[in-house]
Amino acid sequence: MSGRAALADRGVLIVGAGVTGLGAAYHLGAADIPYTILEAGEDVGGVWHTHRWHGARCDSEFIKYSFSFKPFLSPLSLQPRAEIHRYLRAITDEFGIRDRIRFNARVTRAEFEPAERRWVIHTTAGIFTSRFLLNGNGYFSDPHVPSFRGAQTFKGEILHTAELDERRSFHDKDVVLVGSGATAICAAPELSRVSRSLVLVQRSPSYIYETSNQAGIVTRVCQQLHAKNVTTPVQVLRYAIQCKDDLVFVVFRRFPRLARWFFEHHWRRTIDDGTPGRHFQPRYDPWEQRIAVAVGLKDQIRRRAITIRTGEIERFTDSSIVMVDGDTIRCDVCILATGYDLELLKFQMSVGAEPIAVGGINLYKNIMLGGVPNYFHPFGAWHTAWTQNSETVTRFAITIMRHMRAHGYDTVRVARRNVHFVPPLRSGYITRSLSRMPRFHGTYGLPTLDNVLSYRFRPRDFIFA
Ligand SMILES: Cc1cc2nc3c(=O)[nH]c(=O)nc-3n(C[C@H](O)[C@H](O)[C@H](O)COP(=O)(O)OP(=O)(O)OC[C@H]3O[C@@H](n4cnc5c(N)ncnc54)[C@H](O)[C@@H]3O)c2cc1C
Repeated sequence: MSGRAALADRGVLIVGAGVTGLGAAYHLGAADIPYTILEAGEDVGGVWHTHRWHGARCDSEFIKYSFSFKPFLSPLSLQPRAEIHRYLRAITDEFGIRDRIRFNARVTRAEFEPAERRWVIHTTAGIFTSRFLLNGNGYFSDPHVPSFRGAQTFKGEILHTAELDERRSFHDKDVVLVGSGATAICAAPELSRVSRSLVLVQRSPSYIYETSNQAGIVTRVCQQLHAKNVTTPVQVLRYAIQCKDDLVFVVFRRFPRLARWFFEHHWRRTIDDGTPGRHFQPRYDPWEQRIAVAVGLKDQIRRRAITIRTGEIERFTDSSIVMVDGDTIRCDVCILATGYDLELLKFQMSVGAEPIAVGGINLYKNIMLGGVPNYFHPFGAWHTAWTQNSETVTRFAITIMRHMRAHGYDTVRVARRNVHFVPPLRSGYITRSLSRMPRFHGTYGLPTLDNVLSYRFRPRDFIFA
């Protein structure tokens, strides 16, 4: 399908073949709604294809993060990037999605034509038209690279994790890893195994929960039953893990002192020289930011394969990093695990003559932008597995499409309106990008509640024509 290609009246163009796009493809296929995926890259998987730094993995339990229609069975509860990528490629083949993907087709512009009631999508592989547009273009934009005084005089190498390849070894190098978020916590143990020395430099601590990464006995029994085609236990398990995640989130936010005590206790038992206070007690309360999940971090700290330094970097010299407190850390390589900025819309968009910038627009139930017809933007969960929301909202979008088919409607939209929005998390990448984000409304932000209450379809909440 090249050049000007049209999907029939009820067809959907999906942007991106990451977790969101592939999940949407499965559910659309199951609902017998024609679709095509436009993918900028040459493979499926999104971030699970592109993030290739040492230790890249998920920190949501994968039995729950994996799709509801194909739960992933494993003795490990968290999966490395390569395994997740393999899983997504297998889904693409098993459910006949691959034939419907246009690879190397980057969407540059999407225009909704009100008179024709259709989307015209400009891509690097031609122009496509469809009734609906479903956007799974991801949310990470450019790597966030802080500027450090003297960095240009440093004779070693400074690189962001975005440029890091897990096949690299630093056995003859002293490495400094800068960061305290999930990326740094996942990367540190793996990098320490391939470096002469590793110092983890964090400006301020964040909350970290260390796990053994072994699936518990209940999970293993449920998986064994699933392998014998008894599928209900895994469904119940996924629901139970979600309830637990939501409960922890609510309780930790409601009782921060209790939550702080929990983390102090968690680290006090393993780090014995008074360090927990300085390195593991953040300035903010638990679950104000996402909690990083560590595997093997405690062991590597105990073995002194990882040293932690907490404080501001003042400057670089030709061979070291100088901290504000005067400490000097000699290094050959400095790896920045300093994250990304957020960008929810990665192409130009317009409705008729009106250009759309998502910053500040209401995003209803994590799916529809105010005033943008026939456009679905499935947004995942904030504090738990992305798929716990992205799959739900995609199914909700399909319910809307079915309603339109049954009633002969051509367009659907929600009204543009001002809504109060405070992001549920205050991580750096969220606060840095707040002005470019839509304003979310219409849900509780807790998948266990939302699945029951927020995603009951009420036609009067939408404007059909
Ligand atoms: C290392 C790492 C660990 C993570 N761990 C977790 C976790 O444990 N739990 C969790 O919930 N989340 C985690 N996340 C967040 C993760 O991003 C989401 O879970 C989820 O993968 C997002 O999927 P997506 O399909 O929406 O976006 P992406 O995976 O970003 O995919 C977007 C796709 O769209 C394509 N695309 C972008 N722009 C265009 C365009 N203009 N035209 C055409 N195609 C385009 C891209 O090439 C890409 O293939 C993690 C992220 C990373 C990087």
